[in-house]
Amino acid sequence: MGVKYIPEPFRIKMVETIKVLTREEREERLKKARYNVFYLAGEDCYIDLLTDSGTNAMSQEQWAGIMRGDEAYAGSSSYYKLVKAGQDIFGYEFIQPVHQGRAAEKVLFPILLGEGKYSISNMHFDTTRAHVELSGARAIDCTVKEAADPSIRAPFKGNMDNEKLEKLIIQYGPENVGCIITTITNNSAGGQPVSMANVRETAAICKKYGIHYNIDAARYAENAYFCKLREEECKNMSIKDIIKTMFGFADTFTMSAKKDTIVNMGGLIGIKKNDDLVGKVKVRTISYEGFISYGGLSGRDLEALAIGLYEGLDEDYLKYRIGQMEYLAARLDDAGIAYQSPVGGHGVFVDAKAMFPHIPYNEFPGQALALELYKEAGIRACDIGSYMLGNDPDTKEQLKADFEFTRLAIPRRVYTQAHIDIMADALIAIKERAASVKGYKITWEPEILRHFQAYLEPIV
Ligand SMILES: *Cc1c(COP(=O)(O)O)cnc(C)c1O
Repeated sequence: MGVKYIPEPFRIKMVETIKVLTREEREERLKKARYNVFYLAGEDCYIDLLTDSGTNAMSQEQWAGIMRGDEAYAGSSSYYKLVKAGQDIFGYEFIQPVHQGRAAEKVLFPILLGEGKYSISNMHFDTTRAHVELSGARAIDCTVKEAADPSIRAPFKGNMDNEKLEKLIIQYGPENVGCIITTITNNSAGGQPVSMANVRETAAICKKYGIHYNIDAARYAENAYFCKLREEECKNMSIKDIIKTMFGFADTFTMSAKKDTIVNMGGLIGIKKNDDLVGKVKVRTISYEGFISYGGLSGRDLEALAIGLYEGLDEDYLKYRIGQMEYLAARLDDAGIAYQSPVGGHGVFVDAKAMFPHIPYNEFPGQALALELYKEAGIRACDIGSYMLGNDPDTKEQLKADFEFTRLAIPRRVYTQAHIDIMADALIAIKERAASVKGYKITWEPEILRHFQAYLEPIV
């Protein structure tokens, strides 16, 4: 085993008891949950890897900040502290808090997009795609080719395919492209990073055609850490400088602060220059989120967020954070278990298609592996594959996804090396009996975002 576990750069001050149910109890809970992990109770999950969003552990500074939160309706000191932190880190003039990432999208996108417009991205996250479409526009993904092959170990598999981007702009007409979005890290491609060079190139294309450039910034710090490790020009820069430089290429950012900012709730909109966009964003924020100095958050949330923005940049923390992923990935390498490689920033995306070659896409190998993980060790993960993708809206036929992943998303500062070993051991045990694992069929599903609510049954 080549990779060592990076020790936690913190000690534990408050604990939450977790219990593991027996195998029989877990089988029974799964049946009751209709084989949909979203129906499982959180307390029935021994290790909960459903998402890294809002599941992070706050620091003693953040908890102290919660007590100091200023709940003034207008102009609270927590708001000014947050704006100052945002301006300092990203170099943007205007910073608007909102209650989470999709709220930022809801406020900003209808201003940039609308009927007949296009948004082009290195990959739209699912809520991002939803808000592009809700505005009346269409979302086009433009990811580099190597992202689709889990076995290709390229350093920046999250990149925009800039050659294709320019062709798409010409094809749709620059006047019809409302915005271009770079998602850092590229969540849906497996938390894969985007390079500084790639963002610079995308920005030049935006400038050439006069198109607005937005960064979907949920994992701004993990992405910067990968740039520092893998990109020559970033080697001697601080994480903060890498972020400021990268964000300097864009016009705006939308952010779910439930990820790298290490809080449980929050979001941001950033606008580089105090231009007329600011006024439009303020109006929509007041209508949908609340007054501009709280944006759908409590004063205490603003305070924790202002502190978390800086904590996310700490290099010792990022080294440990990415180290956790690399440790788990190295254990999977030893066992010959395939995953989106090299491992990304916020979780391990196991290649369920490779583990269960006998389960076709329309029997949901990614979902089957998620359910096996729960049966095996009480671990809750989720499908990122055909089960999540759903049906063609026109023909109603099951779509075939490019990948069949089971995502083990790792919450920040929550689980230890012993937990990571349980994850690896469980996957290895499942691999040994992989040939006997069966697929699933859907017995009921709603029309949109069906994976959250559908009922399933094992195919016998
Ligand atoms: C989580 C996420 C969002 C949406 O944010 P919420 O806080 O869940 O509303 C948007 N984009 C990306 C890349 C994300 O990871």
